[in-house]
Amino acid sequence: MASQISTRQTAASDQFDRPLRDLRISVTDRCNFRCPYCMPAEIYGERYEFLPRDELLTFEEIARLTGIFVDLGVTKARLTGGEPLIRADVTRLIRMLTPFNALADLTMTTNGYLLARFAQELKEAGLGRITVSLDSLDDEVFRSMNGRNFDTAPVLEGIAAAEKAGFSPIKINAVVQKGVNDHTIVDLARHFKGTGHIVRFIEFMDVGTLNHWNMSQVMPAAEIVRMICEEMPIEPVEPNYKGEVARRWRYVDGDGEIGIIASVSEPFCGACTRARLSTDGRLVTCLFAAGGTDLRGPMRGGADDDELKKLIAGVWSDRRDRYSMDRSTLGDGDGATRSRIEMYQIGG
Ligand code: SAM
Ligand code: SF4
Ligand code: SF4
Repeated sequence: MASQISTRQTAASDQFDRPLRDLRISVTDRCNFRCPYCMPAEIYGERYEFLPRDELLTFEEIARLTGIFVDLGVTKARLTGGEPLIRADVTRLIRMLTPFNALADLTMTTNGYLLARFAQELKEAGLGRITVSLDSLDDEVFRSMNGRNFDTAPVLEGIAAAEKAGFSPIKINAVVQKGVNDHTIVDLARHFKGTGHIVRFIEFMDVGTLNHWNMSQVMPAAEIVRMICEEMPIEPVEPNYKGEVARRWRYVDGDGEIGIIASVSEPFCGACTRARLSTDGRLVTCLFAAGGTDLRGPMRGGADDDELKKLIAGVWSDRRDRYSMDRSTLGDGDGATRSRIEMYQIGG
């Protein structure tokens, strides 16, 4: 595979001097949830046509491209979606990616619904870390936020199974929507305090065009911190590394930490080193991009690794994305009028 046969030649940095370091791979555009902020049920109903099988990248194609990205400097890869655990045999893909020595961090973001069944297998396949999304512990709130009336129990069982399989710490992602689950965030933090797991509160973002995003539903990071601090004092901590997306806060009593992802109120585009590979093989350089560069076509058309590498490096060196930093000046802040790729096609 690419990283084993050619010398490592990293991609040039982009137009804002950001290197290519992370790759998010969307392994499916399908999901067993219908979170209204991502795949609203009224749009993604019974008749919605997801990608036909032959348009999805195969595991061999994903592994080949990952090898090329690793050659270009990627050291972290995250499997996401859609819901990655509904792609058949996804552990086989993990086993195909673990041989890339330069991939120091191989992770997955899942909604956790099927995790109890797969946790042990994922660990044995070589997955390094796992992030589980859980927006609330309140069943009524959770049922409305997953759009499928599922209770929290299967997700909590999934987290317990991941813990038992040896994943530690587990990150718990919670999207905060004002008026929807903001009254339950302190409970969520309290539940995981002292467990070693890290809850990360994410500001509701205007990804895609279908989630009826409105600034008034964004709970600013400062407000989230204030609410938690009132009950359980926290203090800021230095980032683990430059460009870390979540701002770290630790409990003053030493009982662990939380993270805050303030993508709207405190954008972090300046340090964004993430590329995204969509389910159908497009290279997308920003969560808010209108589209991407087709890699599947050239790959299936016979392009060799060097040609694909040049294509990817060229796209990266031209990159000028910094949507979140420009959001306030673009004039389409309240209501997504600009065309944009949807979140489930490229992962979070
Ligand atoms: N299905 C998996 C899951 O939910 O964990 C992986 C894919 S999901 C698109 C990845 C992450 O994006 C999840 O943590 C989800 O909560 C987050 N997300 C989705 N839509 C979002 C939005 N509009 N604003 C902020 N985060 C969002
Ligand atoms: Fe599915 Fe994840 Fe999107 Fe929810 S956030 S609809 S679980 S892909
Ligand atoms: Fe990166 Fe785009 Fe998000 Fe900015 S808006 S942090 S460039 S993905």
